[in-house]
Amino acid sequence: MALDPAFEALDRRFYRYLIHNSHIDHLWQGARWTEGPVYVPAARQLLFSDIPNDRTLRYDELTGDTTVFEQPALNQNGHCLDRQGRVVSCEHRGRAVSRIGHHGLREVLADSFEGKRLNSPNDAVCKSDGSIWFTDPTYGIDSDYEGDKSESELGGQSNVYRIDPDDGSIAAVITDMVRPNGLAFSPDESVLYVADTGMSHVGRACPPVIRAYPVTSDGASVGPESTVFATCDNGAFDGFRADADGNIWTSAADGVHCFAADGTLIGKIHLPEVVANVEFGGLKRNRLYMCATTSLFAVYLNTRAAV
Ligand code: MG
Repeated sequence: MALDPAFEALDRRFYRYLIHNSHIDHLWQGARWTEGPVYVPAARQLLFSDIPNDRTLRYDELTGDTTVFEQPALNQNGHCLDRQGRVVSCEHRGRAVSRIGHHGLREVLADSFEGKRLNSPNDAVCKSDGSIWFTDPTYGIDSDYEGDKSESELGGQSNVYRIDPDDGSIAAVITDMVRPNGLAFSPDESVLYVADTGMSHVGRACPPVIRAYPVTSDGASVGPESTVFATCDNGAFDGFRADADGNIWTSAADGVHCFAADGTLIGKIHLPEVVANVEFGGLKRNRLYMCATTSLFAVYLNTRAAV
């Protein structure tokens, strides 16, 4: 019995999350850039994006098959599941956040802010109060590769927004980031973590970090005093998830990095391709799915999703 060599423990706390006869599953290959995984428990499926190929894929946990769920797919990127089990999608080409209603049809939740079109929503997270928080960097309009190349009606301003669960209104909750990307709440929803990949546009002026923003007491915004939660030592953080212990499992160029809630990098899962995003799946939410460039990988861990 030996640990899979893909695991690298940098702090002894990492070992408690590893299963000694678990190993990395290479589930599928054939995408151009995988992103945006969301687990749909009722269907035992993982949906994920292949953004440049403009399709959403479906991995079936029971058969092991990966098939096309939707194509064209408005160059969808990030996904999350709302509290009613509906899939929420960030659309580069649609320049919108939408969801698949219970009737199976697309419903637009947000496509503009103060009368201007959004840039290209990238990633979203659903909060327990029913609100949806999403990032809106410019990656889907910077070129024709992942959407339609277009001018930013917001002057390049890349914000984090909140969609109100009651009236559907949209508020800018974070306006001080360069290119906000992945985001997740801590298990108690007192902290909002957001990755900034602004390095792509301003170089070293924007280090590859995850920032931690304190959620205000009404749960509807964040305080201005953010801190650097983590800095990436290989590439940049894109999407990530929190587990039930408050660890952050995040994408990076060399695989997945795991940060304890105190910000310590406690371990890595090394993969042969650049990872863009992760998601906990399986009926016990203890299987980490990893979208890695052309491939989908997974590994069982001794932890589970925060929600
Ligand atoms: Mg992203």
